[in-house]
Amino acid sequence: MPAIRVAGDKCKGCELCCVACPQKIIALSDEINTQGFRYARVVDAPRCIGCGLCAISCPDLAIEVYAEGTVYQFYSYH
Ligand code: SF4
Ligand code: SF4
Repeated sequence: MPAIRVAGDKCKGCELCCVACPQKIIALSDEINTQGFRYARVVDAPRCIGCGLCAISCPDLAIEVYAEGTVYQFYSYH
C-alpha cells in the first residue's frame, strides 16, 4: 500500500493537494499548525492509489508519497 507523509508544519493550507487528489481523500484539518494554518491530512489512506499527484502539486514540499519503490515530491523523483 502507498505511504503518504504530510509534514503538517510545512503546510500553508492552500488546498492544491486536496484538489489534485483523484480519490478526494485529502482534507484540511480543523487543527492549526505552528504557522497558524489549517494543514492537510489524509482522511482515508486505504483508498490511496499512490499516484503522487498530491506530492507533485504541493509548492511547499510538505508531502511525500512512497509507492512501488518511487518517492514522489514536488519536482523531485528519486
Ligand atoms: S497519492 Fe494520489 S490518491 Fe494518494 S493521496 Fe496523493 S493524490 Fe490522492
Ligand atoms: S498543497 Fe501543500 S501547502 Fe497546500 S494544502 Fe496541500 S500540503 Fe498544504
